[in-house]
Amino acid sequence: MPLASLDWVDRELADLDRKGLRRSLEPLSSAQGAVVEVGGRRLVNLCSNDYLGLAGDARLRRAAAEAALAHGAGAGASRLVAGDLEIHGRLEAALAGLHRAGAALLFNSGYHANAGVPAALVGRDDAVFSDVLNHASIVDGALLSRAELVRYRHLDLDELEGLLRASRARRKLVVTDAVFSMDGDAAPLRPLADLCGRHGAMLYVDEAHAVGVLGPTGAGLAEAEGVKDRVDVEMGTLGKALGAFGAYVAVEARLRDLLVSRARSFVFTTALPPAACGAALQALELVRGEPGRRARLHRLMARMKAGLAARGFDVARVVSPIFPVVLGSEARALAAARALGERGFFVRAIRPPTVPRGTSRLRVALSAGHDEAQVEAFLGALDEALALLPAA
Ligand SMILES: *Cc1c(COP(=O)(O)O)cnc(C)c1O
Repeated sequence: MPLASLDWVDRELADLDRKGLRRSLEPLSSAQGAVVEVGGRRLVNLCSNDYLGLAGDARLRRAAAEAALAHGAGAGASRLVAGDLEIHGRLEAALAGLHRAGAALLFNSGYHANAGVPAALVGRDDAVFSDVLNHASIVDGALLSRAELVRYRHLDLDELEGLLRASRARRKLVVTDAVFSMDGDAAPLRPLADLCGRHGAMLYVDEAHAVGVLGPTGAGLAEAEGVKDRVDVEMGTLGKALGAFGAYVAVEARLRDLLVSRARSFVFTTALPPAACGAALQALELVRGEPGRRARLHRLMARMKAGLAARGFDVARVVSPIFPVVLGSEARALAAARALGERGFFVRAIRPPTVPRGTSRLRVALSAGHDEAQVEAFLGALDEALALLPAA
């Protein structure tokens, strides 16, 4: 066993510990839900992305099981080889319907979609313009594309306009999160679409935290802002509000055709398992058929927003179930998460590199499975936890 060759790993781990940046797993012993069992205790879960409370829904579980029974446990191959199952096509048709897009193409996760799609759109002679707070998978996808990566300040369209104007790139791709995953605020999609139009840039919107949550039919921020027709790539995940697993892009049919040949994270991987597709199809039916879930989530969001604003937290721009409770140092965020855990709330500290240094925070996320009493109880527990913290 032995290996001096891996001794550096101990030093790296000790270094992460010292900086408060070591991450660890916290296994749930229950299913995903608004209340979960962690470490032998039942806690109100305020850190999942299961915004509609569908991951544990009995109908999704049944749909997953039935899809596995009908179509198999695994897809058995990549889509392009022998793994293109009937249920993949059905799910893509349903997703294109949700987004009123020409077509949709499944990916195995949002990470896969963002890592692989940019390189099919741009290359060495091109440029990707990316909000500095975009999700890490977008940055990775931009780097893999070998295009020039140009980052602009968060939501700063004036800066973006200057950068677009100055660019000599052959093709320009502007990429943004619709809802930013650690801040809960939204990109200004309408002016962004105008800007892209003026500069001949393609617009790629990551709707990971907006699908199922925003828009009259739950199709996301582009639907809410009425700019669906001006977004070239709408990416969504099946693993957050839709309670399943996998992801997709909604695009014009000709672009889907190109991605099928060119997106390496589509080509070189086994297709999604039928169970995930069956659960996602059921979730889409519930998004359409039970708009009350979305309405309930929005009522809880309003309550949480008012409660956090009253405590001095900057949540004015939050339009989503994601609330940043920024505490500053890693130590303060970790201490607050621990104190809330002791009071019955499962909340995790978010630290660099997920968020910029000095902005470590609790990321409090609501689900339609919560109720108003849980929101009020959380705010009370937060007051107690904050009173125990070391000074900033
Ligand atoms: C979660 C997330 C992803 C990745 O999606 P997965 O399906 O979980 O891999 C991509 N973009 C954003 C903004 C996300 O928050």
